[in-house]
Amino acid sequence: MPGCHHNKLNFDQLRQILLDTPSSQKAEDWSRYYTAGPHLAGKNYTQALWTKNRWEEFGIKSEIVSYDVYINYPVDHRLALLKKKQEDDGASVWEVSYEASLTEDVIEEDPTSALDDRVPTFHGYSASGNVTAPVVYVNYGTYQDFEDLLKAKVPLEGKIAIARYGGIFRGLKVKRAQELGMIGVILYSDPGDDGDITDEKGVATYPEGPARQPSSVQRGSTQFLSVAPGDPTTPGYPSKPGVPRQPVHTAIPSIPSIPISYVDALPILKALNGHGPKAADFNQWWTRNAGLGYKGVDYNVGPTPDDVVVNLFNEQEYVTTPLWNVIGIINGTIPDEVIVVGNHRDAWVAGGAADPNSGSAVINEAIRSFGEALRLGWKPLRTIVLASWDGEEYGLVGSTEWVEEYLPWLKEANVAYINTDVGVRGKVLTASAAPLLNNIIREATASVPSPNQTIPGQSVYDVWDKRIKTMGSGSDFTAFQDFAGIPSLDIGFDAGVDSPVYHYHSNYDSFYWMEKYGDPGFVYHRTMAQVLGLIIAQLAHPPVISFGAKDYAKALNGYVGKVENKLQALLSPNKLELSSMLQTEDEIFEMRASHRNTSTLSSALSKDSSVDALAFKKSLKRLYKAIHKLKHRAAKLDDDAEDLRLRLADGIPWWNLPAKVKLFHEIRRVNTKYKYLERSFLYEEGLDGRPWFKHVVFAPGLWTGYAGAVFPGLVESIDSEDWTNALRWVDIIESRIRNAAKSL
Ligand code: GLU
Ligand code: CA
Ligand code: ZN
Ligand code: ZN
Repeated sequence: MPGCHHNKLNFDQLRQILLDTPSSQKAEDWSRYYTAGPHLAGKNYTQALWTKNRWEEFGIKSEIVSYDVYINYPVDHRLALLKKKQEDDGASVWEVSYEASLTEDVIEEDPTSALDDRVPTFHGYSASGNVTAPVVYVNYGTYQDFEDLLKAKVPLEGKIAIARYGGIFRGLKVKRAQELGMIGVILYSDPGDDGDITDEKGVATYPEGPARQPSSVQRGSTQFLSVAPGDPTTPGYPSKPGVPRQPVHTAIPSIPSIPISYVDALPILKALNGHGPKAADFNQWWTRNAGLGYKGVDYNVGPTPDDVVVNLFNEQEYVTTPLWNVIGIINGTIPDEVIVVGNHRDAWVAGGAADPNSGSAVINEAIRSFGEALRLGWKPLRTIVLASWDGEEYGLVGSTEWVEEYLPWLKEANVAYINTDVGVRGKVLTASAAPLLNNIIREATASVPSPNQTIPGQSVYDVWDKRIKTMGSGSDFTAFQDFAGIPSLDIGFDAGVDSPVYHYHSNYDSFYWMEKYGDPGFVYHRTMAQVLGLIIAQLAHPPVISFGAKDYAKALNGYVGKVENKLQALLSPNKLELSSMLQTEDEIFEMRASHRNTSTLSSALSKDSSVDALAFKKSLKRLYKAIHKLKHRAAKLDDDAEDLRLRLADGIPWWNLPAKVKLFHEIRRVNTKYKYLERSFLYEEGLDGRPWFKHVVFAPGLWTGYAGAVFPGLVESIDSEDWTNALRWVDIIESRIRNAAKSL
């Protein structure tokens, strides 16, 4: 019972320990360990065991929880440019004009790049295949990029796509290419997308300087993430040995794909010169950041003529194999209020100094600090569960299977999930969160000194842009937030515009890179460990849960506003107006990525369907009304909570047991309301066409993957001009909001 569990440490003392204990040296030690060898999913048992042993040394009881999951390992690959040549005798033969190396250079200074057992370049969940065809440049391969190509009548069927990385989740590029009848996909990293830190601008390349190493390759999963994460053979239930397995064809690609460097992309892109329309003939999104002009690439779309083709060979071995989550537990005195904290341990490469090992190092430091507090007699009120997930890279597999297994318990007891993935790859704080947790991020960051002391005394909060993004996907919070309805947050230090180029999913995301460019001295590692510690403490210690219900209502109001703006923009025949309603370039880009097709929509609207659209627009008023009610109840809950905090601070005389019991019951009532608020937004049937996603407010964008969509069911219906379904979603959302209000 709050206040009665003989804690030897008060909240301030706990916070001081969490600020004082994390050390840069220790974070560097953890980083050194985790970056010293390959740790693909299902091949990192020693690292799981090592992690468990460290946590137990910190005083935290831990175990390894295993699942049998369906994943692939690379066997062989080839990418070559072939040209048909006429022999003197009139016969024609295919000549190899370029054989791609498909390997990243060995760099003497960076030992990870030289390991014998380094991981080949490949895509998680890619299909095996051997295809030969002309090639088409598809820009970023977003939905709208493909629409532009269709409109320009560029032949896609039977061709191989070459796309640059960026904008959206890579698996969705492959998904759209496949839907349009393309037979293979090549993804490359265009240095133009690295901003000003490029070889073209005279910046030295890694390891001499901070620009992209030209042979660097971004590995990564091509699972169709937005359909459902986790093991594709067990959607919705845990991959325990012996469970029935589903067919995978709607969840992962059936055409082969391969990731390459820009060095390997150059000959293919140049072979497109002079063929088909130019990227510049389309629109600004096709030339934005396209950075290989200085190497002689004209960015023609193609296709290449029939006598210039690419051979793409990809051989993957699919297995069902165990993977290992490490789960630690710090028992609190309240059994059914639980905080879960996690980060993944598997990596595509031997290093992975930023992804995920900066997160692993940081979490270890936070856990070690809690161990220290426990040793000094701290007793947590709430239980803290710690997780080192396996299989994140393939598609959030370890975390998703675990959430699917413990769903009833999590729905009952889990108050919040805290995620860090790339804990540090630069100096710019980036956070996304469910609105209930907004305040906790602000408070924690305001109490941690920033390593940047250009103004003495400034905190992490002071130097932050203070933007909290909505939850999309791309890391282990997804099953918690979108499937189980548990308010989640994701936090880390990102790279800024002038930061050294971070070699995502490449061999050069190594200890050497981190030490030299990413976080010299590991000072941002230490800082992130402090931030995480304070966030966890704020959730686990105070008797009254530190949520902000008003923030949720306020956010919902803003989201309806966004839907209204979008609708307004679509209803207006004037495209200029459309872009002025979206604020930033990023928003327009996001809209291009997620939005299906403005052109058909405006033409449909000039006919009679505009009546439906207008009628639909009125229905949004109902959402505003429901939110208004929620806002009142939420404000009351937050006030009650504040009142209880004050009463607790005043204290109750030790002999007045009835008053204590009464206060305890009141706190329980408030906490239970906070705990279940997020759950109100679940809709059991799930989103259209992707029933695993059950949250009506948040989901990864159908065609973005990483970026979050708000009111996804509603917005997707608007995008496909299905006003009847849009109305249905207004009903569903309205009823969730009303239930939420009632539950308060
Ligand atoms: N974080 C990984 C990536 O972005 C995995 C994402 C996923 O498959 O959901 O590639
Ligand atoms: Ca599953
Ligand atoms: Zn990661
Ligand atoms: Zn990753």
